[in-house]
Amino acid sequence: MSRRFTLMLIPDSGKQVRRMVVSHRLLFAVLASALCCVALLGYVVADYYRLQFDQQHFNRLLVQNSEQRQKLRKLTQDLDGLRREVIVLAESEARVRSSLGVSDEEATSVPIGIGGALDTSTTGMTELQKQINSLRLAIDMRRESQEEVRNLLNDKHSLATATPKGWPAKGWLTSYFGMRPSPYSASRKMHEGLDIAANTGTAVTVTADGVVVKATTEPGFGKVVMVDHGYGYRTIYGHNSKLLVKAGTRIKRGDKIAEVGNTGRSTGSHVHYEVRLNGVPIDPRKLL
Ligand SMILES: [Zn+2]
Repeated sequence: MSRRFTLMLIPDSGKQVRRMVVSHRLLFAVLASALCCVALLGYVVADYYRLQFDQQHFNRLLVQNSEQRQKLRKLTQDLDGLRREVIVLAESEARVRSSLGVSDEEATSVPIGIGGALDTSTTGMTELQKQINSLRLAIDMRRESQEEVRNLLNDKHSLATATPKGWPAKGWLTSYFGMRPSPYSASRKMHEGLDIAANTGTAVTVTADGVVVKATTEPGFGKVVMVDHGYGYRTIYGHNSKLLVKAGTRIKRGDKIAEVGNTGRSTGSHVHYEVRLNGVPIDPRKLL
């Protein structure tokens, strides 16, 4: 059997009281529906706020994304600038190498991977990282290559300062390098240097950087200086009147080492100037 409820609506004024008889089931159904409605409304409201929150979050992400894109573009441009500088460096180094007469295919070529310009609109992080790695590699290569060029320049400079050059004294040539009649006998004899006549006391200067090997008196050369220049070069200055250096002295091209004289087997005041390369006398006239 179903229970019933009577609902009474009593107005303020003296109008008729309204009554409504409802079944227990109906009342339950109405209450349940109302509860459902409230729950649904709650869900809709909550969902709305969640959407709002998501939208804001999304907008923030959009802004962040756009900022990062700009930063990435800037980085890509910077990287591109660096890449160009490396290429310019490689080119200028190639010019130095070619002026030195040495080339290095590997070092002067533009490194693979940094040849083309970057597309700043599509470059991603992975591509950027790849570019950075190849740039680092290129810079390392440049460093090694320039080290090599520096050494070459140093060698070239050392060789240049070690190679005899110029006259050892102001004077005039009286005897050349080669076979000549001996001034002391009838036979022809090899003259292994140049004779430069000059007044006694004229400065004798060394023709390249080096170290004095000996500064002594010998029966043939008289007061003689021998200098070692490295790279196989040695020079000899004979018949001096006065020696101004000692064995072991380090000297530079142009330093005064002796004074012209007529000591030893000599027939007049002059310098006997000899250049030896790896122990073999060579014609000093080629180096005057
Ligand atoms: Zn001589």
